[in-house]
Order: sequence, then structure tokens, then C-alpha cells
Amino acid sequence: MPKTYLAFDDTDSPGGMCTTYLAALVIKDLDDYDLIGLPRLVRLNPNVPWKTRGNAAICLAFGRGKGRTSLCGSVGGRDVRCYESGTAVEPEALVEKASRVLEHVSRFDCEQTNPGIVATVKRPPQSLYLRGVREIVALEEVETMLAGLGASWRKYKEGRGLIGACAAIAWRPRDRTWEVIAYRHPEKLGTDRIIDPDSVMQMDKATKATFNNYDYENGHVAIAPGSPCPILYGIRGDSADELLMAKGMIRGEEPDMWLLFLTNQATEDHIVDRRIRSIRPRDSARIHAQVVSKPVIIPGKHVIVRVSDGEEIDAAFYEPSRSLRAVARGLLPGDEIVLYGSVRESPRSLNVEKMCITGLTESRRKLHNPICPACAKRMGSLGAGQGFRCKKCGAKAPAESAEIEKVPRDIRPGWYEPPVASRRHLHKPLRRMSRVDIDNL
Ligand SMILES: [Zn+2]
Repeated sequence: MPKTYLAFDDTDSPGGMCTTYLAALVIKDLDDYDLIGLPRLVRLNPNVPWKTRGNAAICLAFGRGKGRTSLCGSVGGRDVRCYESGTAVEPEALVEKASRVLEHVSRFDCEQTNPGIVATVKRPPQSLYLRGVREIVALEEVETMLAGLGASWRKYKEGRGLIGACAAIAWRPRDRTWEVIAYRHPEKLGTDRIIDPDSVMQMDKATKATFNNYDYENGHVAIAPGSPCPILYGIRGDSADELLMAKGMIRGEEPDMWLLFLTNQATEDHIVDRRIRSIRPRDSARIHAQVVSKPVIIPGKHVIVRVSDGEEIDAAFYEPSRSLRAVARGLLPGDEIVLYGSVRESPRSLNVEKMCITGLTESRRKLHNPICPACAKRMGSLGAGQGFRCKKCGAKAPAESAEIEKVPRDIRPGWYEPPVASRRHLHKPLRRMSRVDIDNL
């Protein structure tokens, strides 16, 4: 029995608390246990209707540590180190201690906040994680599973957080990234964050494996949240070592604490290949389709394109997607595209979060009506697609006989994604996409 997993979810609120901050407080308070492995930050289904903010759950493993340690944070003025492996501790004692911290800081007044906390030595199966990130899982099912595993847990109010907590423990990373999160001094909460944007751009350029640092399209520091939560900034990347270096490059307000998390952010684990007829509201789906209507711009400058794979759906490119939306305006019927997005119920549509144009149709324009071979005069049109007739002798000619010219397309095949500021946590940036992702289209 190598370690005991402790997980919690749904402790944050729009007003301030955040689940990752609770992780730091729990680590600070449970210092009589050893941390085994990195803290894990697991994003779950971004389309659940009752999510608080980013739908993040935290999983920590505690025990009696063995083997080497590595630096993974600083809380309460002390370094946090995690062990390679260890031995398990009593789950009930962990839940007891962690619930005291949670009860002290959670925003129980927020209707959307329904915390759950669980500790277990045996883990739920990976399938629970995959369902938690892609579907809606019932609380009763999770409680039955936990009882079977011999877990200890607490629910607060409706206790929906238990679902995410369990899914976070179930996560066995296939793809994974890291995030280093720095937290603000409590006395700074409610004031504007002080982060030097130049230092963020310098860090962005000096590092190879970080992403989503700075939104050059909107001139916006993307590592800092917009909400009044205790996070000062979070830097995401594909190298834990480089993130620790990147943290040292940010100038501004001095953080109170920091933690390094292993995460499923930017992995696209939520996306499933679907046919249009089988997609359901709140699914995150990838569809291969053909454009069937010209783009329409609706109030709010959103772009709607009708697409089909046999069945049809409206693909919506919302204004914040900026450059992605601009490309969508250049689509024409017949273009072949692959769309990543989430399904809206009403009006039923796919909210596009990433697009690959795999084939562009030829755009043609009629230059002139054909010339009557007998009279050497231009023929008259019988209406769109109806062909031509000579006004003088009545001879007819098919629609294809017009003189046409090819019009150059103003968009190109390839990948398009929204600017940094409007990407979701699970969005896999193009710079993270491998040859395998692209071959698997
Ligand atoms: Zn004629």
C-alpha cells in the first residue's frame, strides 16, 4: 500500500475561494504527513451546468515518505518537498484533518459551492476519470464505488464535489502538463495584482516549453486570473524544471506561497470524435464536416456556418475567438473542415474552440455569359443554374458554358485556434500538438 489519496472539489466560488489555494492550505496544515508525488490539478467536464469556475479538482497523496524528494512548493515560509514513494496512512484521519481546513475557508454561502472530500488507498478506475471529464456522472454511483473501495469521505450541502474529487483520484496521466501557481499575501486580496507585463513577455520568449503566457493578440497577461481569487499567477508548461525557472523570471508582487502541480490541462482529454447525429448537449466533440452554407454574421459579430457530415448543425465562432472567427468568415460551401468544440442545447450548435481546414473548394465567378455560336452575340441568363438562351435565335446553352474565372481564396488549409485569453483549460494549444495528433485527424 504505497500512499493514501486525498482529493477535494467544488470548494471555490465566484467570489474568491479557489480549490488550488485550499491545496496549499491543506499541505501547510497536514505537515505531520509526507507528500508523495506532486499535487495534482485535474480539470473536469467544462460543460457541466453547475460548475463554479474552472471545474478543477485537487488530488494529493500522503503517507510516510521513502526514497528521493524533490522541491514542489513553498507554504507557510517553508519549502514543500514530495517523495518518490511511501507507505499509506489511515484515510479517515486524513479526511478529518483536511475537512477542518476546508470548513474554515470554504464559501458555503455560495449556492454553487457543494464541496466533497475523500481519502482512499484503493483508486477508482481510469474510466471514472474519463467520464468525469467528458460526461455527467451521478453522485449516487460515486458513493457506491467509494464504499466498495473502503474510502472515507465527507459531503457538504449537496456534496457534488465528491464526483470531481473521485475523478481526480482516478486520473492516470497519459498526456500531462505542469502548472506552477503562485498565491498572493492574504492582505493583498481585493487589490489589483502587480505583475510586470514585460517580464511575462521576456519569460515567454526565454522558455521553450511554457504556453498561454501572454496574449499578443489582445495585449493581455494571460498567467494572471481576472477573478478576485488568491492566485497571483499560474504558468503552464511541458517541463516542471523549466516552470520553476520561469517563476523566477516574473517581476512584481512578491508571492506568499507557491506550488507545482501535475495537471491534465491542455491535454484535450475531454474531446471525443462524434458524428453530428450522435452529439448531445454539453458534449465536447470533434467532428469532420463539410461547409454547406456561406458564413452569416449575427449581432455581437459572431459568425455562424452551417456544416454537415450527413446531418447538419450550426457551427458558432464567437466574437472572443477573434482570428479564428476571421478565418471562419472566409469559409465557403464545399470546404472540408475538422471542428473541436462544445455542444449548446438551445439553439443547438457547436461552439467552435479549434479548427483544421483540410480542404478548400475552388471558388469561381462568372465573368461573361456565353456567346451564341450562330449569332455571335452574348446570350441571356435564364436564372441561377438554369443556363442561357440567345435572345435573337432562341438557342440554348447549359449553365457550364459561361466564361468563368477562378477567384483566389483568402484563407488557407491548416490549423486555427482562438487567442490565448479565450482558450479553455483543457484546450490543447497548437504548439503542444504532436505529429500523432495531426496524423490521427
Ligand atoms: Zn443566336
